[in-house]
Amino acid sequence: MAPSPPGAPLGLYLHVPFCSHVCPYCDFNTYGGQEALIPRYVAALEREIGSRGAELGERRAETIFFGGGTPSLLPAAAIGRLVSACRVAFDLAPDAEVTLEANPTSVDERYFTALLEGGVNRLSLGVQTLQRRGLRVLGRRHEAVDALAALAAARAAGFTNVSLDLIFGWPGQTLAAWEDDLVTVLGGTTLPEHLSLYNLIVEPGTPMADAVARGILVVPDDDTAADLYETAMARLADTYVHYEVANWARDPSLMSRHNLIYWRNGDYAGLGAGAHGHVAGRRTMNHLLPATYVTAVEAGDAPISNVEAITPETATGETMMLGLRLLREGISERAFAARHGQTLEAIYGPIIAELTELGLLERSPDRVCLTRRGLMLANDVCARFV
Ligand code: SF4
Repeated sequence: MAPSPPGAPLGLYLHVPFCSHVCPYCDFNTYGGQEALIPRYVAALEREIGSRGAELGERRAETIFFGGGTPSLLPAAAIGRLVSACRVAFDLAPDAEVTLEANPTSVDERYFTALLEGGVNRLSLGVQTLQRRGLRVLGRRHEAVDALAALAAARAAGFTNVSLDLIFGWPGQTLAAWEDDLVTVLGGTTLPEHLSLYNLIVEPGTPMADAVARGILVVPDDDTAADLYETAMARLADTYVHYEVANWARDPSLMSRHNLIYWRNGDYAGLGAGAHGHVAGRRTMNHLLPATYVTAVEAGDAPISNVEAITPETATGETMMLGLRLLREGISERAFAARHGQTLEAIYGPIIAELTELGLLERSPDRVCLTRRGLMLANDVCARFV
């Protein structure tokens, strides 16, 4: 229930900042051509897990998420070692969700089998699109057939919880091309348990932003992006539960437990280069560069570059901004008061009334949620609270 109560179980986020190359739209903390550092990086991450566990170990952890970058560039044995390190250092729930983001170019059935044996029980496959043109525009090096083969390999290995990431709004994408992606996913021999559909944001400073600024690439306008989003909602409605602005699950038990911790403004430890953590009213950030991170850990130093106390105003704003993204759950008035010690009405009464009047929010006895219209303007509505 959003927001999480104080002291709720933690999530553990483990960042893997390596990619075989950097895609032109990417602004994540990731680096190409640094794979030689992987063995030292894994050892440093193992060490950081141990020291963070010594600080936080009494808090139950219920998820591990290997994000990147491309975590599937790590050998499966290294992933298994890191999962084991988390089990030793933290009070990890026996049924913990352990997710790994995988790139279709770096996986096969054998690799997935080894991951499963190492404790990973959920995969997030970076498919992005099944259109050749889109894959080239996005700078991806795999083909549609590789993405579908990765899903088949995950099934053959025994994974029963697989999510696909798809992107819409890429330069040149047509409605027909997007429908073709959705129809292919829905009509495949195996349906993924979960889908994340992201509207491409052209981030300043990326090569794609440069190409857009120079008129080489043209991204769909807001109306077209809204059409693409509505098309996805309509196509998926019979098969999936749309539970978060960009996320769909076959049923509520298959929602991303790790991401639910973020959306409920819960606590998570961020481990690895550039990882952000949010624990007990403090936000932490680790050194961005993998080499700086590794050097600090090897020297016995905490790899944290920044710590910020989260003020009560920031905490309530983040609860609203994140929790409203949960379409059915929204914000519970009771949970809000229990978490923040003030009522929703006392802090946000006028804003909620205004947005309700505009048809963007709806209020029920213990809940505030986005309306369908609010969903189409979710970023603007959520931004009103921060
Ligand atoms: S694979 Fe993902 S993380 Fe790596 S560069 Fe491409 S978009 Fe960024």
